[in-house]
Amino acid sequence: MTEPAERGIFGKDLLDRCISCGFCLPACPTYALTGDEASSPRGRITLMRALETGRLDEDDPTLAEESSFCLGCRSCETVCPAGVEYGALLEQWRDHQWRGRRRPWIARLLMAVVSRTWLLRLQGLVRRHARARSREDGSALMLGCVERGLYPQVSRAARALRPELAAPAAQGCCGALHAHNGDSAKGAALARELGDRLPGRIVTTAGGCAAHLSTHLGRDRVKEVSEYLAEAGHQALGEVRVGDRRARVALQDSCHLRNGMGVTRQPRDLIRAVADYVELPGAGDCCGAAGTYAMLRPKDSRAVLDPKLDAIEQSGVDYVVAVNPGCLRQLQQSLRARRSTIRALHLVELLREAQNARV
Ligand code: SF4
Ligand code: SF4
Repeated sequence: MTEPAERGIFGKDLLDRCISCGFCLPACPTYALTGDEASSPRGRITLMRALETGRLDEDDPTLAEESSFCLGCRSCETVCPAGVEYGALLEQWRDHQWRGRRRPWIARLLMAVVSRTWLLRLQGLVRRHARARSREDGSALMLGCVERGLYPQVSRAARALRPELAAPAAQGCCGALHAHNGDSAKGAALARELGDRLPGRIVTTAGGCAAHLSTHLGRDRVKEVSEYLAEAGHQALGEVRVGDRRARVALQDSCHLRNGMGVTRQPRDLIRAVADYVELPGAGDCCGAAGTYAMLRPKDSRAVLDPKLDAIEQSGVDYVVAVNPGCLRQLQQSLRARRSTIRALHLVELLREAQNARV
Protein backbone atom coordinates (compact mmCIF):
# COMPACT_ATOMS: atom_id res chain seq x y z
CA MET A 1 0.00 0.00 0.00
CA THR A 2 1.40 3.44 -0.90
CA GLU A 3 1.80 6.24 1.66
CA PRO A 4 -0.36 9.28 0.96
CA ALA A 5 1.46 12.55 0.27
CA GLU A 6 0.31 16.00 1.44
CA ARG A 7 -3.30 15.87 0.23
CA GLY A 8 -3.43 12.13 -0.23
CA ILE A 9 -4.77 12.33 -3.79
CA PHE A 10 -1.92 10.35 -5.32
CA GLY A 11 0.14 7.42 -4.17
CA LYS A 12 3.27 9.27 -3.03
CA ASP A 13 5.77 6.81 -4.43
CA LEU A 14 3.95 6.90 -7.78
CA LEU A 15 4.43 10.67 -8.09
CA ASP A 16 7.97 10.63 -6.71
CA ARG A 17 9.13 8.11 -9.25
CA CYS A 18 9.17 10.68 -12.09
CA ILE A 19 12.67 12.14 -12.51
CA SER A 20 11.49 14.74 -15.06
CA CYS A 21 13.86 13.42 -17.74
CA GLY A 22 11.41 14.11 -20.57
CA PHE A 23 12.01 10.84 -22.46
CA CYS A 24 8.24 10.44 -22.60
CA LEU A 25 7.57 13.64 -24.54
CA PRO A 26 8.11 12.26 -28.08
CA ALA A 27 5.81 9.31 -27.28
CA CYS A 28 2.86 11.47 -26.29
CA PRO A 29 0.17 12.13 -28.93
CA THR A 30 -1.27 15.18 -27.18
CA TYR A 31 2.18 16.76 -26.85
CA ALA A 32 2.60 16.09 -30.57
CA LEU A 33 -0.58 18.08 -31.22
CA THR A 34 0.26 21.13 -29.12
CA GLY A 35 4.02 21.13 -28.44
CA ASP A 36 3.02 22.48 -25.03
CA GLU A 37 4.80 21.06 -21.96
CA ALA A 38 1.53 21.03 -20.00
CA SER A 39 0.08 18.58 -22.54
CA SER A 40 2.97 16.15 -22.08
CA PRO A 41 3.27 13.33 -19.52
CA ARG A 42 6.01 15.20 -17.63
CA GLY A 43 3.97 18.40 -17.66
CA ARG A 44 0.90 16.58 -16.39
CA ILE A 45 2.91 14.99 -13.58
CA THR A 46 4.10 18.49 -12.64
CA LEU A 47 0.43 19.55 -12.55
CA MET A 48 -0.44 16.53 -10.39
CA ARG A 49 2.34 17.48 -7.95
CA ALA A 50 0.98 21.02 -7.77
CA LEU A 51 -2.48 19.63 -7.03
CA GLU A 52 -1.07 17.26 -4.42
CA THR A 53 0.81 19.99 -2.57
CA GLY A 54 -2.02 22.51 -2.84
CA ARG A 55 -0.11 24.93 -5.08
CA LEU A 56 -3.00 24.58 -7.52
CA ASP A 57 -6.55 23.72 -6.64
CA GLU A 58 -8.81 21.58 -8.78
CA ASP A 59 -10.61 24.61 -10.22
CA ASP A 60 -7.43 25.66 -11.96
CA PRO A 61 -8.31 25.70 -15.68
CA THR A 62 -5.06 24.01 -16.80
CA LEU A 63 -5.65 21.15 -14.38
CA ALA A 64 -9.22 20.73 -15.59
CA GLU A 65 -8.19 20.88 -19.25
CA GLU A 66 -5.18 18.56 -19.05
CA SER A 67 -6.93 15.89 -16.98
CA SER A 68 -9.42 15.64 -19.83
CA PHE A 69 -7.09 16.23 -22.82
CA CYS A 70 -4.90 13.22 -21.92
CA LEU A 71 -5.96 10.17 -23.93
CA GLY A 72 -4.91 7.74 -21.20
CA CYS A 73 -3.10 5.75 -23.90
CA ARG A 74 -0.14 4.90 -21.61
CA SER A 75 2.30 5.23 -24.47
CA CYS A 76 4.45 7.30 -22.09
CA GLU A 77 4.85 4.28 -19.78
CA THR A 78 6.61 2.23 -22.43
CA VAL A 79 9.53 4.68 -22.79
CA CYS A 80 9.87 5.79 -19.16
CA PRO A 81 13.22 4.75 -17.65
CA ALA A 82 11.91 5.29 -14.10
CA GLY A 83 8.93 2.96 -14.38
CA VAL A 84 6.32 5.67 -13.78
CA GLU A 85 2.85 4.10 -13.70
CA TYR A 86 1.19 6.93 -15.53
CA GLY A 87 -2.09 5.04 -16.05
CA ALA A 88 -2.51 4.60 -12.28
CA LEU A 89 -1.68 8.29 -11.71
CA LEU A 90 -4.26 9.38 -14.28
CA GLU A 91 -6.93 7.25 -12.59
CA GLN A 92 -6.11 8.84 -9.22
CA TRP A 93 -6.12 12.31 -10.77
CA ARG A 94 -9.53 11.83 -12.37
CA ASP A 95 -10.92 10.25 -9.18
CA HIS A 96 -10.27 13.61 -7.57
CA GLN A 97 -10.71 16.00 -10.48
CA TRP A 98 -13.88 14.43 -11.92
CA ARG A 99 -15.72 13.52 -8.73
CA GLY A 100 -19.49 13.98 -8.61
CA ARG A 101 -20.93 16.65 -10.90
CA ARG A 102 -17.46 17.54 -12.22
CA ARG A 103 -17.48 14.36 -14.26
CA PRO A 104 -18.55 14.99 -17.89
CA TRP A 105 -22.26 14.16 -18.21
CA ILE A 106 -21.71 11.78 -21.14
CA ALA A 107 -19.37 9.72 -18.96
CA ARG A 108 -21.90 9.77 -16.10
CA LEU A 109 -24.65 8.59 -18.43
CA LEU A 110 -22.58 5.77 -19.91
CA MET A 111 -21.39 4.64 -16.49
CA ALA A 112 -24.97 4.51 -15.22
CA VAL A 113 -26.09 2.47 -18.24
CA VAL A 114 -23.30 -0.12 -18.16
CA SER A 115 -23.64 -0.61 -14.39
CA ARG A 116 -27.07 -2.18 -14.94
CA THR A 117 -26.48 -5.84 -15.70
CA TRP A 118 -30.17 -6.42 -16.55
CA LEU A 119 -29.92 -3.78 -19.27
CA LEU A 120 -26.83 -5.44 -20.73
CA ARG A 121 -28.68 -8.76 -20.71
CA LEU A 122 -31.62 -7.18 -22.49
CA GLN A 123 -29.28 -5.88 -25.18
CA GLY A 124 -28.01 -9.40 -25.58
CA LEU A 125 -31.51 -10.74 -26.18
CA VAL A 126 -32.07 -8.19 -28.92
CA ARG A 127 -28.60 -8.32 -30.47
CA ARG A 128 -28.03 -12.08 -30.12
CA HIS A 129 -24.47 -12.23 -28.87
CA ALA A 130 -22.87 -15.63 -28.22
CA ARG A 131 -24.35 -17.66 -25.38
CA ALA A 132 -23.07 -20.82 -23.81
CA ARG A 133 -23.28 -22.14 -20.26
CA SER A 134 -20.38 -21.81 -17.86
CA ARG A 135 -18.40 -24.90 -17.05
CA GLU A 136 -16.72 -25.00 -13.71
CA ASP A 137 -13.11 -23.79 -13.88
CA GLY A 138 -13.28 -23.56 -17.66
CA SER A 139 -12.52 -20.48 -19.72
CA ALA A 140 -15.34 -18.03 -20.24
CA LEU A 141 -15.75 -15.30 -22.83
CA MET A 142 -16.36 -11.84 -21.46
CA LEU A 143 -19.16 -10.33 -23.53
CA GLY A 144 -18.37 -6.69 -22.77
CA CYS A 145 -20.83 -3.83 -22.48
CA VAL A 146 -20.06 -1.95 -25.71
CA GLU A 147 -19.38 -5.06 -27.72
CA ARG A 148 -22.49 -6.99 -26.83
CA GLY A 149 -24.62 -4.07 -28.01
CA LEU A 150 -22.67 -2.81 -31.01
CA TYR A 151 -20.75 -5.87 -32.19
CA PRO A 152 -22.52 -9.07 -31.09
CA GLN A 153 -20.96 -10.84 -34.08
CA VAL A 154 -17.56 -10.58 -32.37
CA SER A 155 -18.50 -12.91 -29.51
CA ARG A 156 -20.19 -15.24 -32.00
CA ALA A 157 -17.01 -15.35 -34.09
CA ALA A 158 -14.86 -15.99 -31.00
CA ARG A 159 -17.09 -18.90 -29.99
CA ALA A 160 -17.11 -20.29 -33.52
CA LEU A 161 -13.29 -20.32 -33.44
CA ARG A 162 -13.06 -21.75 -29.91
CA PRO A 163 -16.23 -23.68 -29.00
CA GLU A 164 -14.77 -24.61 -25.60
CA LEU A 165 -15.36 -21.03 -24.43
CA ALA A 166 -18.39 -20.56 -22.21
CA ALA A 167 -20.36 -17.36 -22.78
CA PRO A 168 -22.89 -16.93 -19.96
CA ALA A 169 -25.32 -14.04 -20.44
CA ALA A 170 -25.32 -13.24 -16.70
CA GLN A 171 -22.29 -11.00 -16.62
CA GLY A 172 -21.87 -7.28 -16.23
CA CYS A 173 -19.41 -4.55 -17.17
CA CYS A 174 -15.73 -5.06 -16.22
CA GLY A 175 -15.48 -1.52 -14.76
CA ALA A 176 -12.82 -0.15 -17.12
CA LEU A 177 -15.16 2.66 -18.12
CA HIS A 178 -15.54 3.71 -14.48
CA ALA A 179 -11.83 3.46 -13.74
CA HIS A 180 -10.96 5.68 -16.70
CA ASN A 181 -13.63 8.24 -15.92
CA GLY A 182 -12.95 9.12 -12.30
CA ASP A 183 -14.49 6.27 -10.30
CA SER A 184 -11.75 3.72 -9.84
CA ALA A 185 -13.35 2.27 -6.67
CA LYS A 186 -16.46 1.28 -8.64
CA GLY A 187 -14.23 0.14 -11.50
CA ALA A 188 -12.42 -2.24 -9.13
CA ALA A 189 -15.69 -3.45 -7.58
CA LEU A 190 -17.18 -4.25 -11.01
CA ALA A 191 -14.01 -6.12 -12.00
CA ARG A 192 -14.23 -8.27 -8.86
CA GLU A 193 -17.95 -8.86 -9.42
CA LEU A 194 -17.26 -10.04 -12.95
CA GLY A 195 -14.51 -12.27 -11.59
CA ASP A 196 -17.06 -13.86 -9.24
CA ARG A 197 -19.55 -14.41 -12.06
CA LEU A 198 -16.93 -15.93 -14.34
CA PRO A 199 -14.81 -18.21 -12.17
CA GLY A 200 -11.80 -19.60 -13.97
CA ARG A 201 -10.05 -17.92 -16.84
CA ILE A 202 -11.63 -14.90 -18.49
CA VAL A 203 -11.08 -14.34 -22.20
CA THR A 204 -11.91 -10.95 -23.63
CA THR A 205 -12.03 -9.57 -27.15
CA ALA A 206 -11.45 -6.03 -25.81
CA GLY A 207 -7.85 -4.98 -25.16
CA GLY A 208 -8.88 -2.17 -22.80
CA CYS A 209 -11.02 -4.48 -20.68
CA ALA A 210 -8.24 -7.09 -20.58
CA ALA A 211 -5.78 -4.56 -19.11
CA HIS A 212 -8.26 -3.33 -16.50
CA LEU A 213 -9.38 -6.82 -15.48
CA SER A 214 -5.86 -8.17 -15.25
CA THR A 215 -4.94 -5.33 -12.87
CA HIS A 216 -7.67 -6.43 -10.48
CA LEU A 217 -7.95 -10.18 -11.03
CA GLY A 218 -4.35 -11.02 -11.88
CA ARG A 219 -2.47 -11.42 -15.13
CA ASP A 220 -2.79 -15.23 -15.20
CA ARG A 221 -6.54 -15.15 -14.86
CA VAL A 222 -7.23 -12.78 -17.77
CA LYS A 223 -6.43 -13.37 -21.43
CA GLU A 224 -7.06 -11.12 -24.38
CA VAL A 225 -8.36 -13.27 -27.22
CA SER A 226 -5.21 -13.21 -29.41
CA GLU A 227 -3.15 -14.25 -26.38
CA TYR A 228 -5.64 -16.99 -25.62
CA LEU A 229 -5.59 -18.28 -29.20
CA ALA A 230 -1.78 -18.25 -29.25
CA GLU A 231 -1.54 -20.11 -25.94
CA ALA A 232 -4.16 -22.62 -27.06
CA GLY A 233 -2.04 -23.33 -30.16
CA HIS A 234 -4.92 -22.23 -32.36
CA GLN A 235 -4.38 -23.21 -36.00
CA ALA A 236 -5.98 -20.51 -38.12
CA LEU A 237 -7.76 -22.14 -41.06
CA GLY A 238 -8.32 -20.85 -44.58
CA GLU A 239 -7.36 -17.48 -45.90
CA VAL A 240 -8.99 -14.18 -46.69
CA ARG A 241 -8.85 -13.38 -50.38
CA VAL A 242 -9.69 -10.38 -52.50
CA GLY A 243 -10.26 -11.55 -56.06
CA ASP A 244 -7.39 -13.83 -57.02
CA ARG A 245 -4.93 -12.71 -54.29
CA ARG A 246 -4.55 -12.92 -50.54
CA ALA A 247 -6.01 -9.93 -48.75
CA ARG A 248 -3.67 -7.25 -47.47
CA VAL A 249 -4.43 -6.63 -43.80
CA ALA A 250 -3.11 -4.12 -41.26
CA LEU A 251 -3.51 -4.03 -37.49
CA GLN A 252 -4.41 -1.15 -35.22
CA ASP A 253 -3.00 -2.01 -31.79
CA SER A 254 -5.11 -1.46 -28.69
CA CYS A 255 -3.18 1.01 -26.50
CA HIS A 256 -3.89 -0.75 -23.23
CA LEU A 257 -3.22 -4.17 -24.69
CA ARG A 258 0.09 -3.01 -26.13
CA ASN A 259 1.26 -0.50 -23.51
CA GLY A 260 -0.37 -2.07 -20.46
CA MET A 261 -0.04 -5.80 -21.19
CA GLY A 262 2.74 -5.93 -23.78
CA VAL A 263 0.68 -7.98 -26.26
CA THR A 264 1.76 -7.14 -29.82
CA ARG A 265 3.06 -10.27 -31.53
CA GLN A 266 0.03 -12.54 -31.18
CA PRO A 267 -2.53 -10.57 -33.25
CA ARG A 268 0.08 -10.00 -36.00
CA ASP A 269 0.93 -13.71 -36.16
CA LEU A 270 -2.74 -14.62 -36.41
CA ILE A 271 -3.30 -12.17 -39.26
CA ARG A 272 -0.22 -13.51 -41.07
CA ALA A 273 -1.71 -16.99 -40.91
CA VAL A 274 -4.70 -16.00 -43.05
CA ALA A 275 -3.63 -12.94 -45.06
CA ASP A 276 -0.69 -10.75 -46.12
CA TYR A 277 0.15 -8.65 -43.10
CA VAL A 278 1.03 -4.99 -43.59
CA GLU A 279 2.59 -3.10 -40.68
CA LEU A 280 1.23 0.44 -40.65
CA PRO A 281 3.51 3.29 -39.64
CA GLY A 282 2.28 4.19 -36.15
CA ALA A 283 0.19 1.01 -35.74
CA GLY A 284 0.92 1.21 -32.01
CA ASP A 285 -0.11 4.86 -31.70
CA CYS A 286 -3.49 5.73 -30.26
CA CYS A 287 -6.38 6.00 -32.76
CA GLY A 288 -8.11 8.65 -30.66
CA ALA A 289 -11.01 6.43 -29.56
CA ALA A 290 -9.58 6.08 -26.03
CA GLY A 291 -12.72 4.87 -24.27
CA THR A 292 -15.07 7.83 -23.95
CA TYR A 293 -12.54 10.31 -25.40
CA ALA A 294 -14.00 10.32 -28.91
CA MET A 295 -17.35 11.36 -27.42
CA LEU A 296 -15.98 13.81 -24.86
CA ARG A 297 -13.44 15.50 -27.13
CA PRO A 298 -14.40 14.74 -30.74
CA LYS A 299 -12.18 17.42 -32.30
CA ASP A 300 -9.05 16.25 -30.49
CA SER A 301 -9.94 12.65 -31.19
CA ARG A 302 -10.14 13.42 -34.93
CA ALA A 303 -6.85 15.33 -34.83
CA VAL A 304 -5.17 12.21 -33.38
CA LEU A 305 -6.92 9.93 -35.84
CA ASP A 306 -6.52 11.81 -39.14
CA PRO A 307 -2.82 11.03 -39.81
CA LYS A 308 -3.53 7.39 -39.03
CA LEU A 309 -6.38 7.31 -41.55
CA ASP A 310 -4.10 8.85 -44.17
CA ALA A 311 -1.51 6.13 -43.44
CA ILE A 312 -4.16 3.40 -43.71
CA GLU A 313 -5.39 4.71 -47.05
CA GLN A 314 -1.86 5.09 -48.42
CA SER A 315 -0.88 1.57 -47.37
CA GLY A 316 -3.06 -0.13 -49.99
CA VAL A 317 -4.62 -2.54 -47.47
CA ASP A 318 -8.00 -4.17 -47.92
CA TYR A 319 -8.73 -4.53 -44.21
CA VAL A 320 -7.66 -2.93 -40.98
CA VAL A 321 -8.08 -5.09 -37.93
CA ALA A 322 -8.82 -3.90 -34.38
CA VAL A 323 -8.57 -5.79 -31.08
CA ASN A 324 -10.76 -3.46 -29.08
CA PRO A 325 -14.37 -2.40 -29.76
CA GLY A 326 -13.68 1.32 -29.23
CA CYS A 327 -10.92 1.29 -31.85
CA LEU A 328 -13.14 -0.73 -34.17
CA ARG A 329 -15.95 1.82 -33.90
CA GLN A 330 -13.55 4.71 -34.41
CA LEU A 331 -12.03 3.14 -37.56
CA GLN A 332 -15.30 1.94 -39.04
CA GLN A 333 -17.06 5.26 -38.65
CA SER A 334 -14.19 7.35 -39.96
CA LEU A 335 -13.41 5.11 -42.94
CA ARG A 336 -17.09 5.18 -43.85
CA ALA A 337 -17.13 8.97 -43.56
CA ARG A 338 -14.22 9.10 -46.03
CA ARG A 339 -16.10 6.70 -48.33
CA SER A 340 -13.11 4.39 -48.16
CA THR A 341 -13.39 0.85 -49.51
CA ILE A 342 -11.12 -0.41 -46.70
CA ARG A 343 -13.05 -2.50 -44.19
CA ALA A 344 -12.40 -2.34 -40.46
CA LEU A 345 -13.21 -5.47 -38.51
CA HIS A 346 -12.27 -7.30 -35.34
CA LEU A 347 -9.47 -9.86 -35.41
CA VAL A 348 -11.81 -12.77 -34.64
CA GLU A 349 -14.12 -11.68 -37.46
CA LEU A 350 -11.18 -11.81 -39.88
CA LEU A 351 -10.20 -15.29 -38.66
CA ARG A 352 -13.82 -16.42 -38.96
CA GLU A 353 -14.06 -15.05 -42.51
CA ALA A 354 -10.95 -17.04 -43.42
CA GLN A 355 -12.41 -20.17 -41.86
CA ASN A 356 -15.72 -19.73 -43.66
CA ALA A 357 -14.00 -19.16 -47.01
CA ARG A 358 -12.41 -22.58 -46.66
CA VAL A 359 -15.67 -24.47 -46.22
S1 SF4 B 1 9.96 9.50 -18.97
FE1 SF4 B 1 9.15 8.92 -16.96
S2 SF4 B 1 10.58 9.81 -15.48
FE2 SF4 B 1 10.97 10.82 -17.44
S3 SF4 B 1 9.65 12.65 -17.39
FE3 SF4 B 1 8.47 11.07 -18.40
S4 SF4 B 1 7.25 10.13 -16.76
FE4 SF4 B 1 8.91 11.30 -15.76
S1 SF4 C 1 -1.38 8.65 -21.48
FE1 SF4 C 1 -0.97 9.10 -23.65
S2 SF4 C 1 -1.82 11.16 -23.97
FE2 SF4 C 1 -1.68 10.85 -21.74
S3 SF4 C 1 0.31 11.69 -21.16
FE3 SF4 C 1 0.69 9.52 -21.56
S4 SF4 C 1 1.27 9.41 -23.75
FE4 SF4 C 1 0.34 11.43 -23.39
